[in-house]
Amino acid sequence: MTTATQECPTRFGEGIIASYPDPLRTCIWNAIVEKATDVHLHCVAEGLRVLHRVDGIVHPKLMLSATEGRKLLNQLKTASGLNFVRSFIPTEGQLVWPDGDTRWEVRVTLTPVRDRESAHLRLLSVPRNQWDISGIGFHAVDQEKVAAAVGSLSGLVLITGATGSGKTTTMYSLASLMDLRTTTTYSIEDPVEFRLPYVQQIEVDEQHGLTMYEGLRTILRMDPDLILVGEIRDADSAMVAARAALSGRLVLATIHAQDAAGAIDAIHYLGVPYHVIGSSLRLIIAQNLIRRLCPDCTQPREPGDGDRELFSQFAMEIPENLMQPVGCPECHSYGYRGRTGVFEVAGIDDEVATFIRSGAHHREITDCLRKKGTRSMAQDGLEKVALGITSMEEIRRVCTFGRGIELMRRTTDPLSLDIEDLTRSEV
Ligand SMILES: [Zn+2]
Repeated sequence: MTTATQECPTRFGEGIIASYPDPLRTCIWNAIVEKATDVHLHCVAEGLRVLHRVDGIVHPKLMLSATEGRKLLNQLKTASGLNFVRSFIPTEGQLVWPDGDTRWEVRVTLTPVRDRESAHLRLLSVPRNQWDISGIGFHAVDQEKVAAAVGSLSGLVLITGATGSGKTTTMYSLASLMDLRTTTTYSIEDPVEFRLPYVQQIEVDEQHGLTMYEGLRTILRMDPDLILVGEIRDADSAMVAARAALSGRLVLATIHAQDAAGAIDAIHYLGVPYHVIGSSLRLIIAQNLIRRLCPDCTQPREPGDGDRELFSQFAMEIPENLMQPVGCPECHSYGYRGRTGVFEVAGIDDEVATFIRSGAHHREITDCLRKKGTRSMAQDGLEKVALGITSMEEIRRVCTFGRGIELMRRTTDPLSLDIEDLTRSEV
């Protein structure tokens, strides 16, 4: 297989009809250099359009001629073990790309589009400090709440957010707070996104009858201390996860919802009664990802009236200056480099648990959490703006402000939305 260990001489720009001797190597190398998480190869009339997703934003990169595009797709199929002949149904494959000390796993999805093919590449790498809890952007107060919940060694911890909001990374980081060498830890995941040392990771395989529910039931028979579930989507799994938490296991699970109170709604809609939720739940972490400003080019600006109003809304001190993106060679002119999380970390104490058991509504639970000092994602974001970590524009892109409830503006996985999700968004 081709490797990307040597310097790749080819750079690229938007709108160029490019020609490369080794299109696959150039394609993956460019994505790695730009720190892209996804590469989209779209067939269009002129040829094959290449787009990168960097820090959550899609950027059109270049246009390959029809011949070059075919060559790239053929190389991709060979490298990822897919059938060379044009497929009439979507197919998935995987390839491994060594790059010095890093090992890139590239998931490839190929789909027929009209009379040709398009592809999507997801690039995954696991740096050594990937699961260090201090690196994911928790406020010190929130980190203490997290450590206390994991340290209690039993109960349910829900990590919630849209697809692509970093839930799995947070779940693994929480698990890594425990000494995984001396605990029996199992996970049931759909799919296994990253490898976690000392964890027996089971991947859902419905074709062979290994559903999430079956996986969870099996795990419970195997004397687990810690169970990771990614992510809860069906009633049976939700119920088993909650019961496992009630029976003295620590269960860390991801679930799709908009905010902390939404996670309670989500698991209740799946059929878990309020009294079971109230008794098992220890902590909810709601999160989204924001881009970090590039430290090499960011510049200050004075806050405008709208900015002042937002800080005032949360009774926060208005910063003298706000930092804004500019763009330089270090950040490939994006103005941002890397991402961090914005979080709502809600500890469930006896008072909140009693409130949950009574079947309190989303708004009432949110009000209760705010009274107890739980900061919203928007407030966490504004603090990161005040610290110069990100820009006001980025927080406005990710959070919607209004009526005291901040909703995520966008979900990247419309398939996982249901009518109840949509109804809740209208609150
Ligand atoms: Zn820069």
